[in-house]
This record gives sequence, C-alpha cells and structure tokens, in this order.
Amino acid sequence: MSEDAMLTVDNLNAWYGPSHILQGVSFEVKAGEIVTLIGRNGAGKTTSLRTIMGLVGKRTGSVAFDGQEILDQPAFRRFHLGLGYVPEDRRIVGGLTVLENIRLGLIASRHARQERAVIDRIAETFPRLKQRLTQQADTMSGGEQQMLAIARAMASDPKLIMMDEPSEGIMPVLVDEMFELFQAMKRAGTTVLLVEQNVERALQVSDRAYIMDQGVIVHHDTAAALLADTDIQDRYCSV
Ligand code: ATP
Repeated sequence: MSEDAMLTVDNLNAWYGPSHILQGVSFEVKAGEIVTLIGRNGAGKTTSLRTIMGLVGKRTGSVAFDGQEILDQPAFRRFHLGLGYVPEDRRIVGGLTVLENIRLGLIASRHARQERAVIDRIAETFPRLKQRLTQQADTMSGGEQQMLAIARAMASDPKLIMMDEPSEGIMPVLVDEMFELFQAMKRAGTTVLLVEQNVERALQVSDRAYIMDQGVIVHHDTAAALLADTDIQDRYCSV
C-alpha cells in the first residue's frame, strides 16, 4: 500500500447469493488522482463500487479508506467518513426540486450547518443547475439529472467520489461538460474513482486505470499508456 493512498482495496471478494463475483480484487487510488475502472459488461465494476460503499452483504478482504479499515462499516458510516457514491441509476427524487435534491445530499453530512455556503458552491460548479434550482427534477433531461446526482454527492464534500457510468445515455454536449467537471473536481482536490464505458474519454481525464475481467483486475497502467495501447483496449474494453 502506498503512503499516499486514499483508498486501498486488497483481495476483495464479493458474492451475490451463490455467485462469486469479485475474486480477489486489489487496487488503490491515491489522494488527488482520477482512477478509472474499465472492462466489459459484467466484469464486476459496479459490484466493486457497491462493495466499497458497503452495499453488498457477503464480502471478504480489505477496504482501507483514508487510513481506516471500513469493510465491516455500514454504508452511512462510510458516507460520514467522506466516501461519495453516484450509482448508475442516479436515485434522483423526481418529485422534488433541484435544490431539494441537493439538500438531501447535505442531510447528516458534516456540512449540514453551512447549507447556504454549500448551495452557493454547488451553483458555481454546476451553472446548468444554478438556472434550474426550483425546477422539478424529473422534468430535466437525463444528462441534467446525472449532473444533479453528482451535485448531490458533492454537497457533502466527499474526500473521494465514486461514479458509475456517469456519461451513459446522455447527449454529447453534456458528456463534454461532465468530463470537464471531473477535471475541475480534481483541481479542487477531490479524488475520483470512475467506472466508464466511454473508455477513451475516461482515459483522457484519468491519471491511471485498472482493467477488470471476470471479477479480477487483469491489467493496470497509466492512462496515457493505456490510451496508446489499442490491443489492450480491443481485448478487454469492447462491449
Ligand atoms: P455493467 O457495465 O454491465 O454494469 P459491470 O462490470 O459493472 O458491468 P457488474 O454489474 O458488477 O458488472 O456485474 C458483475 C456480475 O455480477 C455479472 O455477472 C452480473 O450478472 C452479476 N450481478 C450483478 N448484480 C447482481 C445481483 N443483484 N444479483 C445477482 N447477480 C448480480
């Protein structure tokens, strides 16, 4: 484990019922990095994020976050420690406004008392949401809802944010905005663990990447080296 690791996953195993999905996954994310997990459908990327967040019941191994072992901690405790998670299905509350959804991210966070300052910070970071604070969330486009899901997770000022397929199914102009946003998050000091099918775009903004196949990490390298390695991309990243 590196001294500057924010997240260290070591020999992580996870099961859904009798199915042994993660079979000894090990990787790390250093403070300030953007790291991407890539791999074909069913490789175990989503299960990795869910297990790190504490949402998979049967698991063994070790997950150390910011110097603490968290494998047996409940998900809310991991959230309190500064782990943010934007799931693939977003979990936006459609009947609430944009502002109310952002407030949900603040409830129980250590920044709950600074609501005004947090909302101002989020509005600056997400100008598209700033114009829509009173709009009902389910009347927004899929990409805008995805931005809102990220904004809600950022409201609690996580030390590390995990995002599952944030660019999936959204219009190209918003995909561009989103990848710019990830770079801005990094500049602001947030550490990012990304799962992406949009491999080329993800690698362009990442420091390093790990490739998963059938529940194990099969390869890892700097994002620049992987961008240049079309063989690896063809072998493990085509859907
Ligand atoms: P995708 O891009 O398709 O989401 P992934 O790499 O994220 O792929 P996972 O969603 O982690 O892959 O799935 C890994 C394996 O676990 C797959 O074989 C999948 O069918 C299985 N799996 C996922 N969720 C469940 C569940 N709730 N119950 C049983 N099996 C599951």
